[in-house]
Amino acid sequence: MSNVFRRIPSVNELLESEPLKRLTERASRTVVVNGVREFLGRMREEVSAAAAEVPSPSELAERIAEWIARAEQPALRPVINATGVLLHTGLGRAPLAEEARQAVSEMTAGYASVEIDLASGKRSQRMDVVDRTLKQLTGCEASAVVNNNAGATLIVLAALAAGKEVIVSRGQLVEIGGSFRLPDVMQQGHVVLREVGTTNKTRLADYERAVGEATGAILRVHPSNYVIRGFTESVGLEELVALGRRHGVPVIDDIGSGGLWDFTRYGIEGEPLVKESIAKGADVVLFSGDKLLGGPQCGIILGKRTWIEKIRRHPLARALRVDKMTLAALHATLQLYLDPDTVEQRLPLLRLLATPLENLRHRAEHMTPQIEVLPNVASAQVVEETAYLGGGSVPTQGLPTVCVAVVPADGTVDDLAAKLRTAVPAVVGRIRNDRLLIDLRTVFAEQDTQVVETFRSLSKSSDSGR
Ligand SMILES: *Cc1c(COP(=O)(O)O)cnc(C)c1O
Repeated sequence: MSNVFRRIPSVNELLESEPLKRLTERASRTVVVNGVREFLGRMREEVSAAAAEVPSPSELAERIAEWIARAEQPALRPVINATGVLLHTGLGRAPLAEEARQAVSEMTAGYASVEIDLASGKRSQRMDVVDRTLKQLTGCEASAVVNNNAGATLIVLAALAAGKEVIVSRGQLVEIGGSFRLPDVMQQGHVVLREVGTTNKTRLADYERAVGEATGAILRVHPSNYVIRGFTESVGLEELVALGRRHGVPVIDDIGSGGLWDFTRYGIEGEPLVKESIAKGADVVLFSGDKLLGGPQCGIILGKRTWIEKIRRHPLARALRVDKMTLAALHATLQLYLDPDTVEQRLPLLRLLATPLENLRHRAEHMTPQIEVLPNVASAQVVEETAYLGGGSVPTQGLPTVCVAVVPADGTVDDLAAKLRTAVPAVVGRIRNDRLLIDLRTVFAEQDTQVVETFRSLSKSSDSGR
């Protein structure tokens, strides 16, 4: 046994090997030395358990260098989204505009006027940074911004209706994903859920019967991630607003995605517009900043001044407050909407949505032959497919798209997908019928060559491995 251990080179010998010397040029010496020690430690255990043999010194050095390089990669890194899901929560939802990235960089390099009015030198409220633009864009009286829309729902319920009943249609008791289930959020906001109607049909009379002394608010929720079809009926916002007025009860409209832009031009139907909710008289409207708005993660709350003041003063406002990076990115994103002629080109989400199918086909036809010839690829084809908005929005409506469908020459399609995900840059596609689809609806044109390069790098490493 001790004989076997003697075959393991010393740390110093290994550090003199080519692969590890090369690694020291990129990673710090401490990282490499610690990595070598850790790897050898584990190998000794495996060897003594007879679970492994000692490789040759050169192979050992190669393996250690690869292992350290992989371990050194941060878990959070840029990804080329080839899934075809535009607002992929796992991939960070909306990509930010150049203007927003610039603003974040400028506001974080040094200090910034986060809570100070520079003209008077007095203390200001950080949310006021975006207040003016939000009013201009939506016609609201006042605004507040918090960490995300889940947070917005929580603080609105807590500030407006704690200890009271909130009336919701049974058809709108949503689960958004993960732990966001409306009945649970209500409990956390200390409001009592008062369900009305049935899953498929809720009428004004149902709301009328429920409203009374105990009512704190009427809540309408956009069923973002599901549709109720067939024999259905729901109550329009105008009718709810009129009912709320008669009883002096605020009407809250959680519209989920919150469009500041007409998405029907891309064939996306049924996404509520913020402006419309405000115009129809909702007392409070809430939506996410990183869904259809195309900005940073945040929850935007708009509405009548008296209610917004209450929300801003609530203790949860501090717990849910956004930082200067979010405010800077949100402000810059909102500014883009003030120029309707250029927003479609400047906002990445809209740019992806607006790309003509012909353009996607051209790009796919250009990429496919370059991928097809690689030794680790059996076939690559241009196929028409369906992309989705995602991020908890419109599950039933697909968007036309074009993909490169790749079949690997050896190994499974899952193996190929995993190799692409762990490559640099990481490419995440989607698997369909034993083919890996590279969906160009979510790939920026300037990333096409990187996608091809990544495929190429895989075929090289699989060659040298043999
Ligand atoms: C997405 C969504 C939420 C949650 O928003 P986050 O910004 O992800 O917290 C809440 N309500 C509705 C209707 C939604 O669509």
